Amino acid sequence: MRRCAMCFGLIVCLLLAGCAGAKPQRFQQVYLDVFDTVTVITAYASTREEFDSLCAAAHEELLACHRLFDIYNEYEGMNNLKTVNDAAGGEAVAVDARVIELVRLGIEMYAATEGRVNIAMGPVLALWHDAREAASSDPEHAALPDRAALEAAAGHTDISAVIVDREKGTVRLADPEARLDVGAVAKGWAVQRACEKMREAGATSVCLSAGGNIAAIGAKPGGEKWQIAVEDPFGGGNYASVLALSDLAAVTSGDYERYFTVDGVRYHHIIDPETLAPSARWSSVTVLAADSGLADALSTALFNMDGAEALETARRFGVEAFLIRPDGTTVETEGFAAFRREG
Ligand code: ADP
Ligand code: MG
Repeated sequence: MRRCAMCFGLIVCLLLAGCAGAKPQRFQQVYLDVFDTVTVITAYASTREEFDSLCAAAHEELLACHRLFDIYNEYEGMNNLKTVNDAAGGEAVAVDARVIELVRLGIEMYAATEGRVNIAMGPVLALWHDAREAASSDPEHAALPDRAALEAAAGHTDISAVIVDREKGTVRLADPEARLDVGAVAKGWAVQRACEKMREAGATSVCLSAGGNIAAIGAKPGGEKWQIAVEDPFGGGNYASVLALSDLAAVTSGDYERYFTVDGVRYHHIIDPETLAPSARWSSVTVLAADSGLADALSTALFNMDGAEALETARRFGVEAFLIRPDGTTVETEGFAAFRREG
């Protein structure tokens, strides 16, 4: 009887050891319903079920953030940033804690970058957005936003009109013409949250990519890092650089994805608050940081800075950056090379 119990114990131990030692397999899942972009989750997990539960945790969080940060659509049963924008000049709006945190990050990043990234630039960005949409449905008549309208809109982009009450959980826009646009930070911030949810669900080896926002949890099972390609902004399907990352986020902002053309000139979607027009300094800006929300905010801010200021800002935040000019020349922080894939 005792021997039997010992045998049973031994078998259970062997079975458990077998499970723990099960070779993780590579799985991949694609989503097309968040942040108007392609989201890909690649992960190593012991079973399909384990992978599916990681994906469910990430997808649920990404979808929730997508709805909360949407400025164009409303969703039943929730206040989102459209609700906040629609109430500009009126009452404070009660919002989810995630909206509070994102708006706070936006305000902090404004202060830390001398306004190069400004989530209160909604009125200006809306004019560029409308011009881009009109150009996409009728390219023959593509036209730039009216200069006087841009300047009038710029009079309503004061970040101090964005009042966040963390205790009450509300956001209020003090200027009736003010509008939030969190396009520069929302995707990266949501990716960071999704990674936290996956870690809580037990993830140890994941690469999450949402448009130009990529975050690595751990490395691959053998310790090899995740390989991330930085797209060549000049096309041809080439890579400007291939990176090897673990436990790090990489966010790229580019002039080559969202743009429209007027008289043969391309106008992209990152707007310099000083000129109220697309920044002509860079074609692509990549930022590497532990936090994907910070990397996203900085990728946009650095786009609106010259090389020296961009490098100084990256250094101040302790992040790495790689910037490509429209003429193909590049600038990078000292530590960036260490993240290039060897060979
Ligand atoms: P992507 O959306 O392609 O990942 P970014 O992170 O650089 O690229 O964000 C660009 C978006 O941010 C624009 O579509 C617009 O909504 C918003 N935006 C553009 N310029 C600024 C700016 N100077 N400050 C704040 N938001 C901006
Ligand atoms: Mg950004």
